[in-house]
Amino acid sequence: MKFMKLYPDDQTMKFLKPILFSRRLYSAHKATQKIGEYDVAIIGGGIIGTATARELLSVYPKLKAVLLEKEKELGIHQTANNSGVIHAGIYYTPGSLKAKLCVEGSKLTMKHCDEKKIPYKKVGKLIVATDEEEVKYLKVLYERGLSNGVPGLELIDSQEKIHKIEPECKGLKAIWSPNTGIVDYKNLAISHADDFHTVGGEIRLRAEVATIEESGREDYPVKVVDTHDHVLVAKYVLTCAGLYSDKISMLTGCPRNPRIVPFRGEYLLLKPSKRKMVKCNIYPVPNPKLPFLGVHFTPRMDGNVWLGPNAVLAFKREGYSYFDINFLELIDALTYTGFIALCLKNMKYGVGEMIRSIIWPLQIKQLQKYLPNITSEDCERGPSGVRAQALGPDGKLLEDFYFDKSQKGQLKDRVLHCRNCPSPGATSSMAIAKMLVEKMGKEFGLEKIHAEIKKKLKT
Ligand SMILES: Cc1cc2nc3c(=O)[nH]c(=O)nc-3n(C[C@H](O)[C@H](O)[C@H](O)COP(=O)(O)OP(=O)(O)OC[C@H]3O[C@@H](n4cnc5c(N)ncnc54)[C@H](O)[C@@H]3O)c2cc1C
Repeated sequence: MKFMKLYPDDQTMKFLKPILFSRRLYSAHKATQKIGEYDVAIIGGGIIGTATARELLSVYPKLKAVLLEKEKELGIHQTANNSGVIHAGIYYTPGSLKAKLCVEGSKLTMKHCDEKKIPYKKVGKLIVATDEEEVKYLKVLYERGLSNGVPGLELIDSQEKIHKIEPECKGLKAIWSPNTGIVDYKNLAISHADDFHTVGGEIRLRAEVATIEESGREDYPVKVVDTHDHVLVAKYVLTCAGLYSDKISMLTGCPRNPRIVPFRGEYLLLKPSKRKMVKCNIYPVPNPKLPFLGVHFTPRMDGNVWLGPNAVLAFKREGYSYFDINFLELIDALTYTGFIALCLKNMKYGVGEMIRSIIWPLQIKQLQKYLPNITSEDCERGPSGVRAQALGPDGKLLEDFYFDKSQKGQLKDRVLHCRNCPSPGATSSMAIAKMLVEKMGKEFGLEKIHAEIKKKLKT
């Protein structure tokens, strides 16, 4: 990573304070800290934040922009802990943002990877029906894929034809999507951040935003303060805070709901000697009554094969195991009417998922539906990721991508929030970035500001 600019480290200052500074000198250091002034501040250095930061400066290169990320590295949450699939856009309701942005995002991502020589593979994907009920829904999915404009889809109508694509896989019928791919999204996010930095964008790591408020200034109306009391002012702010997207929206007066309820997805790994059993992505036909796509088989860019993910409540928003607990966040989720309603509706499934999560060999039965020869000896526990899924107070998952604007005083038309960008958010990230930059350009007046800066620079 070329950028790696950390804040003029306040933590170090705190450590040095008793040794080097008298109280007066330390206060003077704080008082003389320069307030940064930016045209745009982007909060959250995951795949959506970095892709949008890159797009922003490629469309408006004269803007002064900063990307703030709370961790010491970019892209370590959902961006690093997902299935790594470049989805083709089959499942999503025609006309929805997901349908449009996934199809467009997949093309943009592959084109960008080609240009930048970022490794990715078009391994393809089979969606496999194992009984007559699933065959019916498979056909619905196929039609959906066609109306979404997914290229190259094929309906496979026999076990023999499935075998030709994936010799170990069992099923009655399947959809074959040859243009589904795999990529390492963290790699991609770092490349976006590099591009942003190369054209003058600033990146601040370990910068956890604590407040976003009115600055009282006409020229830079939005004030952003982090947990180390570093202050910056900006004309516009975009937040892409993943698992904290609702909390950060609330800072600017947006409603509490829909709320993010963190669902952990745990994967199993195929042992190295068994990896050759899986060549392409193998997915079940999703149960339309259940919220997630179901456990699948995914080859990875590093040669691993991941099996999963399941879906269990995470005890902390960014909690990757049962031992990662944040009691306030846990109580917040457990007492939310939306979560209670969802549990009541899916009680049997939820309890089953918990049991299979704790006693993982029980998951093998689900996997054997598609790969009958797989056994628990072939697998081991793998990594996990946490989904930032927005949930309405009535227990309904927000299916589509969702963006929100602050309506508060000076912040109106100045602050835009990405509130719900679950799967296929990573696939769609470059298309989301294009849409957001267009929106900020036209609706928020960024286009005009950029033109003024250009004019000023010429004179
Ligand atoms: C298990 C799982 C499997 C998935 N599989 C796929 C898949 O195969 N294909 C696909 O397309 N999508 C998939 N997804 C979805 C995809 O990972 C997400 O849609 C995407 O990563 C969202 O990116 P993001 O930038 O919004 O979030 P994140 O990557 O979570 O980034 C948000 C960033 O904001 C930062 N942040 C939060 N609060 C603050 C703050 N106050 N100040 C500063 N920074 C802050 C965080 O530290 C984080 O780095 C999957 C997700 C999961 C969990």
